[in-house]
Amino acid sequence: MENIKGRLDDIKDRVARAAQRSGRSPEDITIVAVSKLREPEEIEEAIAAGISDFGENKVQELELKYDKVISPLRWHLIGHLQRNKVKYIIDKVALIHSLDSLRLAKEIDKRAEQAGVVAEVLVQVNAAGEESKFGVSSEDAAPLIDKVLAGCSNVRIRGLMQIAPYSEEPEDVRPYFKELKQLYDELSRISHPNLSFDYLSMGMSGDFELAIEEGANMVRIGSAIFGDRDYSKRMGGL
Ligand SMILES: *Cc1c(COP(=O)(O)O)cnc(C)c1O
Repeated sequence: MENIKGRLDDIKDRVARAAQRSGRSPEDITIVAVSKLREPEEIEEAIAAGISDFGENKVQELELKYDKVISPLRWHLIGHLQRNKVKYIIDKVALIHSLDSLRLAKEIDKRAEQAGVVAEVLVQVNAAGEESKFGVSSEDAAPLIDKVLAGCSNVRIRGLMQIAPYSEEPEDVRPYFKELKQLYDELSRISHPNLSFDYLSMGMSGDFELAIEEGANMVRIGSAIFGDRDYSKRMGGL
């Protein structure tokens, strides 16, 4: 159990059971292994154990690891993205989870066009309205999506992402998962060539089973796979 493979086997099991409780199958849920503050060797270990999606929350850290991991994988940018850093990751990531403003969308659009790609993004929603977190309010999600669809032809909106509030009691967080699923279902009815709601990214180490029960189909799990993070050793002095 105390290695990455052992912990992953356990997590896959728990994901599968939560999927079944919500009437879905394990294959419907994508596990994004959050590899921030983890070494390339640990990422290789997770790949060997069957994981192919990895999330980083800092552009510089993603760039550092990008060339160091040899095995094929899909990178996800899950943290706040500053406009001046979009150019560094636009052709490196499969999915940006943190779109939260039209200004950022315009920059992503411009850089995607220059790179000859279509950027795949999720809109980050801060349903709980926490000051410390990025993301648009539930009410602002639809207006933002309308503007992005109208003005950014190289951006494709693939769903929503949420970082739920932290609570000692995971059940306290369930209403925020429910709220986001409801919003997701509403917005998925928008018909536009650049919108295809396929991913509802919510749930982390402490609450991924709850999130799946409420409809998440993408979970971002870090410490439960790799162990506790040591923030004193940010790679390359980050
Ligand atoms: C770090 C991080 C996670 C994973 O957190 P754990 O509690 O270690 O699973 C998920 N999402 C985002 C945006 C993160 O920054």
